[in-house]
Amino acid sequence: MIGIFGGTFDPVHYGHLRSALEVKEIFGLDEVRLILSAQPPHRNSPHASIGMRLEMLQLAVKKQPGFIVDTREIARAGASYMVMTLESLRQDFPGQPLILFIGSDAFNQLTGWYQWQRLFDFSHIVVLTRPGFSIKQLDDFFAVRQTGDKQELSQNLAGKLYFQAITQLDISATAIRNLIADQRNPAFLLPDAVLAYINLHQLYQTQTTH
Ligand code: ATP
Repeated sequence: MIGIFGGTFDPVHYGHLRSALEVKEIFGLDEVRLILSAQPPHRNSPHASIGMRLEMLQLAVKKQPGFIVDTREIARAGASYMVMTLESLRQDFPGQPLILFIGSDAFNQLTGWYQWQRLFDFSHIVVLTRPGFSIKQLDDFFAVRQTGDKQELSQNLAGKLYFQAITQLDISATAIRNLIADQRNPAFLLPDAVLAYINLHQLYQTQTTH
């Protein structure tokens, strides 16, 4: 089984990395693919360039077995739509279950994603919730796909919806960028190698509103 984590990674931090490692272990994934969103359709433009976000991601995971930096959204022109990414992964891995991991905030907005129903043609979706989070009433499209049985994810290539509670570290890229702009030290929120890269290239020096 292959896990898929999308993000702008502006910059990558321990919130991302810790949850990717937890789900790798919980679901027994062969690999976790970190998909760098080149042009995120649902948010403001990233602060660091795509090349720099890529280098930071590579530095963050280079010693972590089974973590793969996936650049297919960079190679493709135009907005980074997840459905196209999953279709392309399905072509590359025809016989492997794929699991797209998203946070519960993203799940609440999923029906706004481009061709969101088709996501399930290519992949399962696992929603990462905070412990104690209660699932709100699901409409029929989701209810028929939801399972409480993790085994069903490995028994099917795609099409299931599953909720998994994990401990999320209270870290965001926005908070890290703001610390740096305030001349404060974000050490221990992200890998040292990533912080060294940020300092070397003097990234995120100016305060931003997003
Ligand atoms: P920003 O603050 O710039 O919005 P971010 O820290 O939320 O960035 P993204 O690259 O936008 O990071 O997020 C990529 C994915 O990682 C999203 O699915 C998001 O829900 C998840 N994520 C972000 N922060 C955490 C965290 N602390 N713990 C677990 N997952 C996280």
